[in-house]
Amino acid sequence: MNASKGNETTKLRVLGLDRQALEQQCVDWGQKPFRARQLLRWIHQRGVDDFAAMTDLAHDLRRLLDARACIEAPAVLADHESADGTRKWLLDVGAGNAVEAVFIPETDRGTLCVSTQAGCAVNCVFCSTGKQGFARNLRADEIVAQVWHAKRSLGHATDSGQGCGESRVITNVVFMGMGEPLQNYAATLTALRLLLDDHAYGLSRRRVTVSTSGVVPMIDRLREDCPVALAVSLHAPDDALRDRLVPLNRKYPLAELMSACRRYLERAPRDFVTFEYVMLDGVNDSDAHAEALLGCVRGVPCKFNLIPFNPFPNSGLRRSPDERIRAFAQRLVDAGIVTTVRRTRGDDIDAACGQLAGEVQDRTRLREREKRLRLAQEGRVRVVERTH
Ligand code: SF4
Repeated sequence: MNASKGNETTKLRVLGLDRQALEQQCVDWGQKPFRARQLLRWIHQRGVDDFAAMTDLAHDLRRLLDARACIEAPAVLADHESADGTRKWLLDVGAGNAVEAVFIPETDRGTLCVSTQAGCAVNCVFCSTGKQGFARNLRADEIVAQVWHAKRSLGHATDSGQGCGESRVITNVVFMGMGEPLQNYAATLTALRLLLDDHAYGLSRRRVTVSTSGVVPMIDRLREDCPVALAVSLHAPDDALRDRLVPLNRKYPLAELMSACRRYLERAPRDFVTFEYVMLDGVNDSDAHAEALLGCVRGVPCKFNLIPFNPFPNSGLRRSPDERIRAFAQRLVDAGIVTTVRRTRGDDIDAACGQLAGEVQDRTRLREREKRLRLAQEGRVRVVERTH
């Protein structure tokens, strides 16, 4: 793969250009705008990273592209596959930062979870990414590269025998990895446009989900610019508790957030918002919390996704017992709200929600991986690891 460490090239990174931007670029190069559609298909649908291989482009154009543009994804520091088929890539975005993309195969779908920032500034108390702090926004090409790379890798994957019958194709993309997508709005929007473009990934709006901790003004922007499915990290039924768990709530309290959700649904491709709710033992998981939650979301068509907390070192928090999670879910179901409990996938490779940063934080292991990557590039070891 043509791979970079994120900041080294001065060439135009075409992975991060949506159709409109690429058409303008083609015009600037003295080409017809339709060349952009050809380029998108070569890059995103066929996964080609070599302009010379784009045989329906004129030789002159291929030479021009080769001189001025590049198709580069961040280098892969590690590639893990879990016993349950979940696959996780650790990608080097330079300056000691790495982000992760996770593919979760299921019988009827294959979901890729992508990151939008290195670290995160929101600092939710239950999230290991938040504990890591904020490094920087990813560029659009670095977000799109996660999909581009995953699609190529899965296309080359051989069936391990684990997860037989589960989809190895990316049918859904969720912006639920490292970072708050709506605090990196422009790059997220470009990535969304490419995901939806029939000449690129061609996904429907219903199959692309942006998950936010509640950046109210940007929920309104997304509603105007590119209304895809919306998930909101709720985690608490009242402002006092949510102020503690999700500090962004102090800026955009629950009443404002619920109003934004209602406005969003006027344009959304689905007629509900998905509320995510991490289950924290003795913190937000009582029957009283469930009752308060019903009051909080009244008037917002919604589904709930309860997420058993994934403990990480020094969090000071515990996962709610299974029977408590079931009882909490039942209260919501009894009130007529579709409620699911997230199946814990990829536990053995730290790919479950809120664990994405665990290994990234561990600079020692990151350095080990970088060393392994160098050895791999010299042909001395294989970087791909399986944990089963
Ligand atoms: S849960 Fe999401 S918004 Fe909160 S700190 Fe983690 S990555 Fe950031």
